[in-house]
Amino acid sequence: MARVVVVGAGLGGLAAAARLAALGHRVTVLEQADTVGGKLGWYERDGHAFDTGPSLVTLPQVLRDLFDATGGPLEDAVDLVRLDPAVDYRFADGTRLTVPGSIDAVPGALDAALGHGAGAQWRAVLDRAEAMWAITEQPFLRSPLRGAATLARLARDPADVGTVAPWQTLRGLGARHLRDPRLRVLLDRYATYSGSDPRRAPAVLATVPWVEQTHGSWYVRGGLHRLAEAVADRARECGAEIRTGTPVRRVLSDGGRVSGVELADGGEMTADVVVSGADAAALYAGLLPPHRRTRAVRRGLTRATPSLSGFVLLLALRGRTPGLAHHTVAFPADYDAEFDAVFGTGRHRGVPCPVPDPTIYVSAPEDPATRPDDDSESWFVLVNAPRHDPDAGMDWDAPGLADRYAGRVLEVMAARGLDVRDRVRWCVARTPADLARETGSVGGSIYGTSSNGTRAAFLRPGNAAPVRGLYLVGGSSHPGGGLPLVTLSAEIVAGLVGPA
Ligand SMILES: Cc1cc2nc3c(=O)[nH]c(=O)nc-3n(C[C@H](O)[C@H](O)[C@H](O)COP(=O)(O)OP(=O)(O)OC[C@H]3O[C@@H](n4cnc5c(N)ncnc54)[C@H](O)[C@@H]3O)c2cc1C
Repeated sequence: MARVVVVGAGLGGLAAAARLAALGHRVTVLEQADTVGGKLGWYERDGHAFDTGPSLVTLPQVLRDLFDATGGPLEDAVDLVRLDPAVDYRFADGTRLTVPGSIDAVPGALDAALGHGAGAQWRAVLDRAEAMWAITEQPFLRSPLRGAATLARLARDPADVGTVAPWQTLRGLGARHLRDPRLRVLLDRYATYSGSDPRRAPAVLATVPWVEQTHGSWYVRGGLHRLAEAVADRARECGAEIRTGTPVRRVLSDGGRVSGVELADGGEMTADVVVSGADAAALYAGLLPPHRRTRAVRRGLTRATPSLSGFVLLLALRGRTPGLAHHTVAFPADYDAEFDAVFGTGRHRGVPCPVPDPTIYVSAPEDPATRPDDDSESWFVLVNAPRHDPDAGMDWDAPGLADRYAGRVLEVMAARGLDVRDRVRWCVARTPADLARETGSVGGSIYGTSSNGTRAAFLRPGNAAPVRGLYLVGGSSHPGGGLPLVTLSAEIVAGLVGPA
C-alpha cells in the first residue's frame, strides 16, 4: 500500500483518487478551492443555477468504466440523459441545422437542411474518423505516452499511417471530403473541443464528431457538476480523504524520487506517490522545483501552443424561449477571423484579442434544477477567447473590459436571432482570468496545450513524470482535455501506479 497524495480535486484528480483508493492505496486529495470539481464548476443565485464549465458529456462509457472499477454503476450515482436533438446549428447564411441525437438520423437531417448529398459527404468523413479511432484508441488514448515507442506502435502498419495522416490538418480533411462550406465549418468546430485551430490541428480530431454522434451527447440531470460530486463520493466510499481549502505550494522530491508535498500553510505531507491534477504548466513551472530531469518536458511545454480559453456569460432570464434546443451554436460569417483573434495569427501579428464577431454557444438545459420557476431560463453562453496573458497578450483584468465585451456578446447574439437583452434579470461574466484564478489553469487555458501542429500530441506532458513516483492526471497531460480524456488519464495513471 502506497501513501498517495493527489493534488487537485478536478475530475482528473478525483477519478485517480477513486481508482487508487479502490486499488487499496491510502489516498489523500488536497484541493485549493472550497469545493470539488475544478473546471466542472457550479454557480447558483436567486434560484438560477448554471454549470460554469462543461455542458456536454461525450463517450459516457469511460465514466461507466470508472464507476464499475470503483464499486458500482454510474447510473446509480448520476442521472445521465441522452440529448435528442444533440445541437441546433445556425449558419451565417441563415441555414438552420438540427442535428439529431442518433447517428443513423444524421445524414438525413443534413440532406434536409443543407441539400441532397450533404449527408453522404459527412458520412465519408465519419467513416474515415471511425477507422482513425480504431487505430489510435488503444495505443494512444488508452496507453501511457512513451515518445518514440508510442510513435512506433502507431506507425507499425503503413496503411494505418495513411488513414491517420498525421501530416493532414482537420481543415485539410474537410476540404478533401466536404463540398458544402457549412459542413466544413461544422467539422472545423470540433478543433475547439481541444482548444485548437482547425487550420493547424490534425485531421485525427475528426474522431471527435464520430465519437459524439456515435456514442451520443449527454446531460447530467441537476447539472454536470454533479458528476464531480459523484466521483468525489465514490473516492470517499473507497477510503480516500478529500481536503478542500488546502492549496499545495510545492511537490517535494529527494534523489530523483517524490517524497511528498508542502502545503501553503507551511505544513508537509510525506507520500510515496504524488498524483498532480493541477495544470501541467503550473506543475512544471512552479510546484516542482526546476530539475535537469524535467528540462525536456518544460521545453516541450514552451514549444506547444496553449489551448484557447473561453469567455462565459451566465444569463438569468425572465420568460422562456419557444423551441430552444439544449445546445445552440450560431456561427459567424468569418470563422477564420475568430481563430486569428484567439491565437493572434494572421493580421493580428502575434497579438490576440477578444473575437469581435464570435461563434456563440448557448447551453440552456431543460432542467427545473437550473431555474427558479417555469417562467425563467438560465443560459450558459460561451465564446472562444484568447487566454489571459497580461505580459505578452491579452489582459482580461483591464478595467471595464469584461462588461464591455459582455455587451458585445449580447449584441452579436441578438444579430443571430438570440436576442435576450430585454429579458436579463442579471448577468455574470466570467473571463479567462477568472478561470485561471479559480482553477490554477495557466492563463485560463481550457485544455492545457492545444492540438495545434503535427507534434502537439507528443509535446503534451506524459502521465509519468521524470521524477519517480510523480504522476500527472487531467486535461493538461496525456491524452488531453475534455471529460472523457481526463477520465482516461486517471485510468492510465492507476495502471501505472498499480495495485497496493
Ligand atoms: C468553460 C468550459 C467549458 C467546457 N466544456 C466542456 C464540455 O462541454 N465537455 C467536456 O468534456 N469538457 C469541457 N470542458 C473541459 C473540461 O472541463 C476539462 O477538460 C476538465 O474538467 C479538466 O479537469 P481536470 O481535472 O484536468 O482539471 P481542473 O478541473 O482544472 O482541476 C484541477 C484542480 O486542481 C486544483 N489545484 C490546482 N492547483 C492546485 C494546488 N497547487 N493545490 C491544490 N489544488 C490545486 C484546482 O483548484 C482544480 O480544482 C470545458 C471547460 C471549461 C472551462
